Amino acid sequence: MAAATDLDEEPLYRHIEALLDAAEHQDNPLRTPLEQLYIFSQKQHARLERLIHISDGYHQIGRQCSKSLTDQGDRQLRRLEKLARISDLYQVNLQELTESLRQASLQDALTGLGNRRFLMDHLKQESQRADRKQSSFALAILDADHFKSVNDNFGHDIGDQLLCAIANTMKNGLREYDHCGRWGGEEFLVLFPDTDLKEAIQIADRLRLAMTQIELFEDELDPHPRVSVSIGLTSYRPGEDHSETIKRADDALLSAKRAGRNRLQVG
Ligand code: GH3
Ligand code: MG
Ligand code: MG
Repeated sequence: MAAATDLDEEPLYRHIEALLDAAEHQDNPLRTPLEQLYIFSQKQHARLERLIHISDGYHQIGRQCSKSLTDQGDRQLRRLEKLARISDLYQVNLQELTESLRQASLQDALTGLGNRRFLMDHLKQESQRADRKQSSFALAILDADHFKSVNDNFGHDIGDQLLCAIANTMKNGLREYDHCGRWGGEEFLVLFPDTDLKEAIQIADRLRLAMTQIELFEDELDPHPRVSVSIGLTSYRPGEDHSETIKRADDALLSAKRAGRNRLQVG
């Protein structure tokens, strides 16, 4: 006999119905229990169908829920990734901004050279280094001669251009490791690290000569704005306050002015 689970139910039902309808089986004592079993089985079958239907529904809802949760999770993840990218971008921008602000705070806006703060920072560093290593450095202050008359004769804009040309001449005429900057107005300062006075005199005087060669206009215009600089130069003495070094260079500059300008004086 085949197992109940192997039976194909539809032909079986048709077979039972035929048996129940057959006139020759009407008095069979098994007919009534067979009929009851048939009805019971039909009900069970209907229940089972309903259960399967409900179970399918739950499965579908479950799948939809899980899909929608996965989709939500994916969307959140994408949002988080986007936020992280934006945050990274802001961090980089902020770092760049901080760095450009730091540089701007140390730079002279007109000439692009280091400003007084930049020079003071380097002056402190150089004097500390010189004290530590028992070495020295040279310091020069350059002041444009009769600069007021440049402004008076050619206008302030040409004066500005001449200050930029002085700055460029300094950048080109100095060594890579020298520090130069705009001390203020038409005055500039140079630090010559680890350099003795003799060598510093040579470099600074070459610079003084280069200033007199500055040609501001490319066309042959007459008169040309001309410039010369007076220079006060000195050496740092280990242990001294750097304000004393500056004072000596300033005094030497004053002597250069008094001696006729366009010259270098050592203090
Ligand atoms: P000295 O040889 O004695 O140094 O004479 P000087 O005319 O250079 O000195 P003074 O101190 O009398 O004048 C400095 C001039 O520098 C006056 C000022 O207008 C000019 N100056 C300072 N800063 C700037 C600037 O940023 N641009 C321009 N165009 N001129 C400036
Ligand atoms: Mg001056
Ligand atoms: Mg001057």
